[in-house]
Amino acid sequence: MLRGTFQRAGAWLRGLRRGPRGPAESARRGVVSCIDPSMGLNEEQKEFQKVAFNFAAREMAPHMAEWDQKELFPVDMMRKAAQLGFGGVYIQTDVGGAGLSRLDASVIFEALATGCTSTTAYMSIHNMCVWMIDRFGSEEQRQRLCPPLCAMEMFASYCLTEPGSGSDAASLVTSAVRQQDHYILNGSKAFISGGGEADIYVVMCRTGGPGPRGISCVVVEKGTPGLSFGKKEKKVGWNSQPTRAVIFEDCAVPVANRIGDEGQGFLIAMKGLNGGRINVASCSLGAAHASLVLARDYLKVREQFGQPLANNQYLQFQLAEMAARLVASRLMIRTAAMALQEEREDAVVLCSMAKLFATDECFAICNQALQMHGGYGYLKDYAIQQYVRDSRVHQILEGSNEVMRMLISRSLLQE
Ligand SMILES: Cc1cc2nc3c(=O)[nH]c(=O)nc-3n(C[C@H](O)[C@H](O)[C@H](O)COP(=O)(O)OP(=O)(O)OC[C@H]3O[C@@H](n4cnc5c(N)ncnc54)[C@H](O)[C@@H]3O)c2cc1C
Repeated sequence: MLRGTFQRAGAWLRGLRRGPRGPAESARRGVVSCIDPSMGLNEEQKEFQKVAFNFAAREMAPHMAEWDQKELFPVDMMRKAAQLGFGGVYIQTDVGGAGLSRLDASVIFEALATGCTSTTAYMSIHNMCVWMIDRFGSEEQRQRLCPPLCAMEMFASYCLTEPGSGSDAASLVTSAVRQQDHYILNGSKAFISGGGEADIYVVMCRTGGPGPRGISCVVVEKGTPGLSFGKKEKKVGWNSQPTRAVIFEDCAVPVANRIGDEGQGFLIAMKGLNGGRINVASCSLGAAHASLVLARDYLKVREQFGQPLANNQYLQFQLAEMAARLVASRLMIRTAAMALQEEREDAVVLCSMAKLFATDECFAICNQALQMHGGYGYLKDYAIQQYVRDSRVHQILEGSNEVMRMLISRSLLQE
């Protein structure tokens, strides 16, 4: 029964290859030609982009303020999104995924993020976790775990950061000591998105000596004795998804839940993050696109000094710069997504550049759009402040933007 559901979800997106279908009219909100996100896409991509914009406008945008203010994790909405294939966008089709590319995923996450940046960002982390299982898991693990995850019947969390290891992730100390056919986990993970609500925790833990080669990746299922959660963190943004510490106290996890080989965990975590960086940067694009459109509309209607603000050349030039920075960010993200898809050697550094550039620029665009709203931009009645708050954290996580600079400069200096 369940299996049929995810196959239908994947088939729906794949069916678009055969020609346009889905909702007849685009719900893309306020698309302006020079910043049109469909520029350069093929017909199939334009179709699923429309579907994602439509979904964002109808199912997400009307609720984003409530999810934020009441801190609601919108499970039902995400399950609806999964029916369209958004729970496993770049997951293989035999396990319920949509089988689309990294570029396709970026197009989809950008569109969804216009409706709620925070929830889309969680969905992108979920996709990253499912990909890690799909790509590095055994056939048994793929068939057992991926289908319910693609359908978002089950939710996943990515567990790398610890209280004492953030940017220096390879120094993590959560231990996994083998006892017959189980690992006994002890330690804790900090800042885990989806923590407490997710059903599956993809955990990087130490099975060997110090450094990255001593790290393995195991899946810990909710309900396992010895697994518990910290309090729900109070955050500036990303309020539609819970963030909690994940704690392991003599938590026995079957060896059969290890993804990949012993010692391969850090590599798996980093491979996941390459795509994660494209995804989170795409969420920033969606927030910046929506903010720019809101600012443009506001400048046209708000009058000061006897005329619309849009007549002021300073503000016109700022709007122009915001548009140029948005399009530049999108081009970088899409170039990196294609490099990752083709498994090119420069993919890691291009993903780092795209994440650094786009999350910085897009946050600046959202913030400038708030400034253009004056005092009203600071009120929670206006959506703009939520895009600012939700996109701020993208400069910090999935590898902070300082870490991105480290990766880029290391690559340059090695040549
Ligand atoms: C809302 C939220 C959700 C998150 N979700 C997850 C999740 O789902 N899973 C997960 O594993 N983690 C998650 N994280 C954790 C996130 O990845 C880390 O916060 C991030 O990697 C930075 O680590 P840190 O906070 O320990 O900062 P630190 O590493 O202590 O860094 C502090 C500051 O110093 C800078 N810095 C550090 N080292 C250097 C250096 N060598 N040179 C220059 N600057 C440096 C950093 O860039 C940063 O600005 C989340 C964080 C937040 C806030």
